[in-house]
Amino acid sequence: MIRGIMKGSFILLFLCFLLVACSTGTSENGSGDEKIAASHPGKSIENKQPKETMEIKQEISIAAIGDMLIHNSVYNDAKVDGGFDFKPMLERVKPFLSDTTISVANQETMIGGEALGLSSYPTFNSPTEVGDALKWAGVNVVSLANNHTLDRGEEAIQRAIEHWESIDMMYTGAYKDTQDQDNLRVYETKEGVSVAFLSYTYGTNGIPVPEGKDYLVNLIDQELIATAIGEAKDKADVVVLSLHFGNEYERMPNQAQKDLVQFVADQGVDVVLGHHPHVLQPIEWVTGEAGNKTLVAYSLGNFLSGQDEFYRQIGGMLKFSITKTLSGGETTIDVHTPEFLPTYVRYVNWRNFEVIPMYQLTNQELPNAVQHYEEIKAHMSQWMPELTFIED
Ligand SMILES: [Zn+2]
Repeated sequence: MIRGIMKGSFILLFLCFLLVACSTGTSENGSGDEKIAASHPGKSIENKQPKETMEIKQEISIAAIGDMLIHNSVYNDAKVDGGFDFKPMLERVKPFLSDTTISVANQETMIGGEALGLSSYPTFNSPTEVGDALKWAGVNVVSLANNHTLDRGEEAIQRAIEHWESIDMMYTGAYKDTQDQDNLRVYETKEGVSVAFLSYTYGTNGIPVPEGKDYLVNLIDQELIATAIGEAKDKADVVVLSLHFGNEYERMPNQAQKDLVQFVADQGVDVVLGHHPHVLQPIEWVTGEAGNKTLVAYSLGNFLSGQDEFYRQIGGMLKFSITKTLSGGETTIDVHTPEFLPTYVRYVNWRNFEVIPMYQLTNQELPNAVQHYEEIKAHMSQWMPELTFIED
């Protein structure tokens, strides 16, 4: 009898628990939705609308920088006891690179390391410590498909990849084997927005890709790129494509760049990050054939290099935000709020290299600093008047 009453109370208690759990709405979904509810507790409790019309927004930001082109002048300046330290060179841009959900850099030279023998132009091999400094500065992804990828052959690529893996850096565009190449790079953020990173180069300075080893570097091929974009769109919310293309030292994109960008916009790429010209080219929105908008930086310039012509010492960081909206079973992605941080590589007598945000430059650091900064801002925003510049 007593046993029966106890059993009845337990059932009652269990029913109450079920009622409470359902009214808060936190346990009715799968694990993925639970994560969303946890990060937006207000939404799931207060919203009395049926689940189908509920709207959940998740937002991330991405930063992208141009060429890390490590000449001997740069690595000689970074020499310290027992190795190299490039961190002081990135100290003044670290706050900006660390401030985003994901930061991506174009590592133009392979970091095959000192044991392989360091080298500069025209066939580069850079210290592994370049990677350590990028990691320290806040970079999470490196793009490796460049015209310099094969400079020192397969060994430099394999040694570089070994280092990228040892510091847990996502790399894309050059791979250790076919399996590695087939593994699409998707960066899963804790905010619940996933981003695929693709990377291709126009060529490898005439150095042939070793027979049967296409995985060593991704070459631009419209058919291959279209297939990769299709897979990326299936597996990620956002597709970011790095393209190493264009004419060196030209401040405006050429027709071939524009044509390829239109092609990938038509395939539905969300963002194109261009490099190779070593100077900045403007930013613009390109409309794909489905009416989709693609954010395009034709060339992000040199971020850190030993080049010594004024415009080749200018680079920058493109920053943008992505909002993922889940509503009525539909997911929409909005790339918005592009911002730019122009930077200048300063050094004196090939010493004390540092990347400096242009808005911080004094006339002592660069004569006529303000005029130069204004000219770069006008150049970058000529096709995108709403482009804002980061100044704090
Ligand atoms: Zn290049």
